[in-house]
Amino acid sequence: MTARILDGNKIRDQIFAELKDEVRLLTAAGVRPGLAAVLAGENPASQLYVKSKIAACEHLGMASGLITPPAAVTTLDLLSTVEDLNRDNSVDGILIQLPLPPQVDTKRVLEAVDPAKDVDGFHPINLGRLVSGRPGLVACTPAGCMEILRRNGITIEGANAVILGRSDIVGKPMALLLLHANATVTLCHSKTRDLPEVVRRADIVVAAMGKAAYVQADWIKPGATVLDVGTNHITDAKEAERLFRNFPERLEKFGAKSFALVGDVHPDAINTAGALTPVPGGVGPMTITMLMSNTVKAARLRRASPRVSSSQTTAIAR
Ligand code: NAP
Repeated sequence: MTARILDGNKIRDQIFAELKDEVRLLTAAGVRPGLAAVLAGENPASQLYVKSKIAACEHLGMASGLITPPAAVTTLDLLSTVEDLNRDNSVDGILIQLPLPPQVDTKRVLEAVDPAKDVDGFHPINLGRLVSGRPGLVACTPAGCMEILRRNGITIEGANAVILGRSDIVGKPMALLLLHANATVTLCHSKTRDLPEVVRRADIVVAAMGKAAYVQADWIKPGATVLDVGTNHITDAKEAERLFRNFPERLEKFGAKSFALVGDVHPDAINTAGALTPVPGGVGPMTITMLMSNTVKAARLRRASPRVSSSQTTAIAR
């Protein structure tokens, strides 16, 4: 059996087409959704991520702004930046690109973001809303995983869902989303006993550990759905040979580039799972997609309602 591929790029394109329409309507009504990104320091990976987020805004016709404090920025400087963005009515979403420089109190900065503009879904108010099943802004990667399940018609209600990894940004919100969708949820972590046996009971597996190809193909129940959140760079030729022994074209690509991206699930799981997200091209494209979706949602909730205040509108590049 070969698993059905759950193509994140295809779902991204569907959602982008829907968002483009909504942005057009909102803009015509005088509410052009806007995202402001704060990128402190010069981390090349962060620069690349922020660049692609700004490009996605442009693609969708949304406004975007980029604030680039130096690597030596202080917590107080960043708190003041966040306050300015909170007050700016043209900013619907505030994205604080992580990691922040080590001297900065990251939690304090994230908690200063207005929960109505917290498009990453990291603020305790939004997490609390998620716990109690009330509407709010939900962390992008788990929200993207739910879109993958729903848009592929995968039954969640009554399913045994096993999540590997309990981080605040992936595992925990994922567990809550699946629970609210009536799955029976098991949340695993590094102290979980007999992980293979727990995974073997799963109808839906969400792997978010950050351990290359850790989940073996024979842990997957035949026909189960696998969402592989892990994004691991491998550069070791021996490891590539071992992981891609049944995928000559991937091995060839590795040979050409000397690196490859692999998930937390062994590529051979394609022969046991019923449906599976590839790495790359599965969950990855959904994270940025849901960031855009959250920004449009924030604009709709904040400004496209009669109760919207008309405080100052500045700063954001159009
Ligand atoms: P994280 O904060 O490092 O958390 C890792 C989790 O995995 C922890 O809860 C840890 O358990 C658990 N874990 C580690 N080893 C384990 C083991 N042997 N058995 C069971 N559980 C184990 O990671 P994260 O930020 O959630 O990210 C996880 C992965 O997803 C990474 O590869 C990251 O790059 C990727 N990611 C991808 C996207 C995307 O857009 N595709 C977005 C976010 C993250 P403890 O709590 O006990 O330590």
